[in-house]
Amino acid sequence: MVQNLTAQQLDRRSLLRGAVAAGLAVAEVPFLHTRPALAQFKDNPFTLGVAAGEPAPDGFVIWTRLAPRPLLGRGGMAPVPIEVKWELANDPAMQQVVRDGKTTAWPELAHSVHVELGALEPARDYFYRFRAGGAESPVGRARTLPAPGATVAQFRFASAGCQGWEGGFFTAWRSIAEEAFDLVVHYGDYIYENRHVTVDRQGRPFPRTLPSDFPLCLNLIDYRRRYALYKSDPDLQAAHASCAFLASFDDHEVVDNWAADSDRRNTPPEAFLFRRAAAFQAWYEHMPVRNSMLPHGPNLLAYRLLRIGNLADLAVLDTRQYRSRQPCGDGFHSQCVEADEPNRTMLGGQQERWLAEGLRAQQGTWQVLAQQVLFSRFDWRSFPWLKAPDVEIRRMDTWDGASAGRDRVLKILQDVQARNPVVLTGDLHMGMAIEIKDDWNEPNSRCAGVEFLATSISSSGDGSPTVSNADALHRHNPHLKFIDNERGYTRHVVTPKTWRADYRVVEKVSVPGAATSTRKSFVVEAGRPGLADA
Ligand code: FE
Ligand code: CA
Repeated sequence: MVQNLTAQQLDRRSLLRGAVAAGLAVAEVPFLHTRPALAQFKDNPFTLGVAAGEPAPDGFVIWTRLAPRPLLGRGGMAPVPIEVKWELANDPAMQQVVRDGKTTAWPELAHSVHVELGALEPARDYFYRFRAGGAESPVGRARTLPAPGATVAQFRFASAGCQGWEGGFFTAWRSIAEEAFDLVVHYGDYIYENRHVTVDRQGRPFPRTLPSDFPLCLNLIDYRRRYALYKSDPDLQAAHASCAFLASFDDHEVVDNWAADSDRRNTPPEAFLFRRAAAFQAWYEHMPVRNSMLPHGPNLLAYRLLRIGNLADLAVLDTRQYRSRQPCGDGFHSQCVEADEPNRTMLGGQQERWLAEGLRAQQGTWQVLAQQVLFSRFDWRSFPWLKAPDVEIRRMDTWDGASAGRDRVLKILQDVQARNPVVLTGDLHMGMAIEIKDDWNEPNSRCAGVEFLATSISSSGDGSPTVSNADALHRHNPHLKFIDNERGYTRHVVTPKTWRADYRVVEKVSVPGAATSTRKSFVVEAGRPGLADA
């Protein structure tokens, strides 16, 4: 059945139950009579495109937001509810409509709508669009997941994230759109919270800049305008219209390197949590996620598990909300005893238990952890900009800052006899392929799984295929099989026998429309963890 409830409707429903329980006639609940306005728009309200997300075997979420003037605080909308119609069809021309309905865009949620569609057929394409007033949205495509337990010949998806506006053009999103993937896994940094700046740290002008009145994001209006700007990008809109996304967030959806209730400038937790609440509300308003992911104040339940037939179990993790604060004051450290303290965590106890339970009931050949920051142990010495003595250096914002938390996740994978663990990561603005080792100090120890880091869509600007001191990096990290400093995304082609990862790179992002190509490909054979050149 179609679930199509906004928060307020949910509230009304429970209120209605309350009213019935209290013996009141339904008609006496006064605001049940309010009707959303049937607006007429002078300007196109669908400036932010459409999106789908959270695919299941029987449905997905479809999203849009009405914003005729997207960069204004209220998107150019009057503060009244608006009726939005939606249609679902078999074909991109929307000739064979299989389902339609109405929902309400509430001003409290920036006139965004999240329609949860159910009772659809597994493993097939659907197309959708919205109407409001006299206006019609673009058409989006989404594909349902394979049926539970079904044998899946192939599943194709992208992992991507880190789309800094100033870094350059979203050509990688255009390329993703052309692939018509089954799914996009977004690892976070969908927006960056920084104020308007025109030049990078070296004083070079950015390829594009925020409008000059864009401040550091602190409150709800700041974050809303930021999402509106990013989502105004035609390449990003094309990617969203091309397939369903699985959205997660990392740090920049709130602020650089936040951790639980803390940020880097020692804001009191009670103050910081107001910022986190505003950031999460804006995130929810702009992502195609389920109503169950509505934030409650500063809290948002973002970890979840998808089963892709009998091919893969895919857990989306939240490595920000429940983590221990970065040890030793964050940054890079050669000696930080705190990082290895046994009580430290990236997921928190509850999420760790949830993960163990979810993986114990695994159905797939591949066990996928879709998450945000570098999972594998990594020695950063010899990165030129560190200028450090020749000793091991670890980065405190990654799982190296909570090694006991990583050990517990590896123990879970072992305990549940996960056959083929694959960790998906982003954050570093570099592509990497890594073998996860039973004993990080012993290059010949068993390979417990693989980690694929997707590079950034645009953050850090034009890159280069070579990383300086790459030889030394490989020497100090024998489990590192590939590192690349270009912009792009990772394409994953998964079958019951093999997992293929293609590192897709954009020639440059400082100009629009540059060429995309494959820099490197790896194959993992099911049952034989380890990376082989494709
Ligand atoms: Fe980033
Ligand atoms: Ca970061």
